[in-house]
Amino acid sequence: MINLSPHFPQLIKILTNKKSFPHYFNYVIIHSVEFTLIFKTTMEKEKLWQSVLAQVQLNISEASFNTWFKNTQIYSLENPKITIAVPNSFVKEWLESKFNKTILKTLRELNTNIKEVDYVVRAPIKKEAPKEEKEAINQMQFQEFSVDSVTGLNPKYTFENFVVGPFNELAQAASFAVSESPGNIYNPLFIYGKTGLGKTHLLQAAGNEIRNKIKDKNILYIQAQKFISEVVSAIRNGKMDSFKEQYKDIDVIIIDDIQFLSGKEKTQEEFFHIFNELYEKNKQIILSSDRPPKSINALTDRLRSRFEGGMITDIDYPDTETRAAILKKKALEKDFNLPDDACSYIVENIQKNIRELEGVLNKLIIHQKINKKEINLETTKSLLKNIIQSSAISFSPQKIIKVVSDFYDINEKEVRGSSRKKEIVKPRQVVIYLMRDELNYSFPFIGKKIGGKDHTTVMYSYKKIIEEIKNNEELKEEILYIKQTISSM
Ligand code: ADP
Ligand code: MG
Repeated sequence: MINLSPHFPQLIKILTNKKSFPHYFNYVIIHSVEFTLIFKTTMEKEKLWQSVLAQVQLNISEASFNTWFKNTQIYSLENPKITIAVPNSFVKEWLESKFNKTILKTLRELNTNIKEVDYVVRAPIKKEAPKEEKEAINQMQFQEFSVDSVTGLNPKYTFENFVVGPFNELAQAASFAVSESPGNIYNPLFIYGKTGLGKTHLLQAAGNEIRNKIKDKNILYIQAQKFISEVVSAIRNGKMDSFKEQYKDIDVIIIDDIQFLSGKEKTQEEFFHIFNELYEKNKQIILSSDRPPKSINALTDRLRSRFEGGMITDIDYPDTETRAAILKKKALEKDFNLPDDACSYIVENIQKNIRELEGVLNKLIIHQKINKKEINLETTKSLLKNIIQSSAISFSPQKIIKVVSDFYDINEKEVRGSSRKKEIVKPRQVVIYLMRDELNYSFPFIGKKIGGKDHTTVMYSYKKIIEEIKNNEELKEEILYIKQTISSM
């Protein structure tokens, strides 16, 4: 690829005179302030991607480009879908969440038939990754433990590497107690909480602990989605009996993300039978969900009451100190020196998802390895910018008002109006709460956004919801649901 922009005026002359266009250029990209002209003869996959990369490179830093775009290529192009091969799942996740829009836009400028971009992890062909980058990524990957194919347990999750704080101590204590004496105390044990807060870690840690202590126990960890698809295929193939047979001799069954059973009546029925049989034999059942049993829609009553018959405990959002403790512990495990100010900055900005905390740490580690420079507060800030912006993008005042109004079945105008009716005041307070909590807006600014309310009223409303959430499970669930709806928009 040749950048011809300095020769732009002469080039236009050459290009308009086709005869003089040299054939050994497959394509020429000319950047000018006004426009980009793409001239092509055969635009093969590789060349198309090179063009995209050339564009992307103009808009991001070199370090960022090297981290996320080196060793990517087009895997397949079947209009309207293009699949990009990326070297590892870390890059995949990053391109999907942070660069997808830019990539799609750039591709579409070059080929309007493309409507969708997909990413697959494939080792790069031919082109070798630069040594230091390969080392950095290898180092990240060697920490992946392998999942046991019989039990479904991953040894990387243990109680030792689970940091306990006020928000998760009950869930941790209950899981630990169950692992000391499976089938005898809390049955079933039901842990719920939002995504990325440590449910899978605890469930798996309990499984691993039991396996280490009592060798002859049959343990099975399965994700609800997998359980559902197994039930569906057993029904389809008429193999329900042999399917149930598998569960007969299990001593400890752990099912993760049980909320996916919602609305799947047939699966629920089969699960109910398996559940009862194990329960009656005093076998330990451990379940997780992103919400409490009573909030799982379309869960049959008998299953719900089974779930509620044991111990239900939640994991809340982590407090600042524990977030810092977790981050430091993970940094130590990865032998990474995380400066205190960078650590504080991260935990102040990533508050609601421990998985995301880990993601940032991995990103810092890769950055340091590639650039061979110690991470400091400045680099941390710049690497975090994307993440913080993207979480702010999903929430906007307009979206909050719309989703809350739809949820409580009132008119958006009423949120901004001055009615003191109970049916209106509560949704308005929820709007205020979300604008403050999700967008960090000041009270006077929120006042403006909801029809010119006084900041003391706004502050009062915010505090009211904070107080109510503590004891009002229903309101907590409502807000959780609203937040999920907004993030998925
Ligand atoms: P969930 O299942 O609730 O979505 P996970 O259990 O997958 O969340 O946790 C996300 C990531 O955060 C995992 O890598 C897990 O090891 C880590 N994690 C969560 N809570 C803790 C904790 N208290 N201490 C250490 N690591 C944690
Ligand atoms: Mg999980």
